[in-house]
Amino acid sequence: MTERTIFHKIRDREIPADIVYEDEDVLIFQDIHPKAPTHLLLIAKKDADFVPSIADVTEETAHVPLLLIRKAQQFAREQGIDGYKLTFHVGRGGGQEVFYLHLHFMSQQQLAS
Ligand code: AMP
Repeated sequence: MTERTIFHKIRDREIPADIVYEDEDVLIFQDIHPKAPTHLLLIAKKDADFVPSIADVTEETAHVPLLLIRKAQQFAREQGIDGYKLTFHVGRGGGQEVFYLHLHFMSQQQLAS
């Protein structure tokens, strides 16, 4: 079995996080070390959608990065954010520290309160 990461523990409410959005498929929470006025992380929630990294995506899990991108797009629209960056870090050499596929969402614009 794959080792559970810190994002599994956030997903399963074993450790706290500042969650800004959740539905049955996706969780969005604040990055603990923000590198922009808005810096969020998006993860897929279902065990069947678990992928450690973009480098591990297969035919069966190819929908997962798209799910995260579509959710980021929807969330940005709802928040009135029209400019943002989406980033996947891939592998240790690509700056990836947590091996639970996540999409960084960064914007100079603030979230609506
Ligand atoms: P990456 O380098 O792509 O693996 O990104 C991992 C991100 O997770 C980093 O930007 C960290 O600041 C963030 N992070 C690590 N631990 C936590 C945590 N407990 N809650 C929220 N964000 C975290």
